[in-house]
Amino acid sequence: MKGYYIEGDRWYSKSGVEVKNPLIQLKRSESLLRQVLTRLYINLPIESRVVFVYPGFTLYNADPNAPIILPTQLTAYMKKFPAFESIPSHLIEKMKTLAGFHIRNSDVDKKLIPSYTYEDLKKGTPCAKCHSFSLRIQGQKLKCTLCGHLENLRNVILRLVEEYKLLNPHRTITVTAIKEWGELDINTRRILRVLKSHMEKMGDKRYTYYK
Ligand SMILES: [Zn+2]
Repeated sequence: MKGYYIEGDRWYSKSGVEVKNPLIQLKRSESLLRQVLTRLYINLPIESRVVFVYPGFTLYNADPNAPIILPTQLTAYMKKFPAFESIPSHLIEKMKTLAGFHIRNSDVDKKLIPSYTYEDLKKGTPCAKCHSFSLRIQGQKLKCTLCGHLENLRNVILRLVEEYKLLNPHRTITVTAIKEWGELDINTRRILRVLKSHMEKMGDKRYTYYK
């Protein structure tokens, strides 16, 4: 019989071997999917679950509020989904758009993420709180005109770099690239300072990029 037991944040197989905590993987996938959807102009809520489908699978010490579906809960859980006919047409349009981005990668994480090119992605800086693109620079901060969230510009730049790296793993990180990605009228020197202090400088004087 397959099963895991949980101690705090750590997951172990029945034989005592530590396994990857699927809840952490779930969080990471959800965050990545949210960023991609936001940048593909698809505004949909995401509800993520870890689903164990193997019959007889057991889980010990699981928090009952954790987003986990066990084999015995699966039938009831699937019944919660509406029939296709009752899905509103605007959502069906979005599903079609998503299906248009072919899923062709075999890696589990990537399987959940529609494939896209840099050009497909909306450029700009999303609000860290409400994910809208309605931000305005206000002194040293960036203010969201929708929810009012204020964020330090240095944080914003770091967040843009992290996002850029994650969503465009094959592109190099340069000041120009980050400026184009975030579409923010941030002083080039300020971006350069943040890149210099947080990343490793590569290349020569004429062509500098960061890792
Ligand atoms: Zn906001």
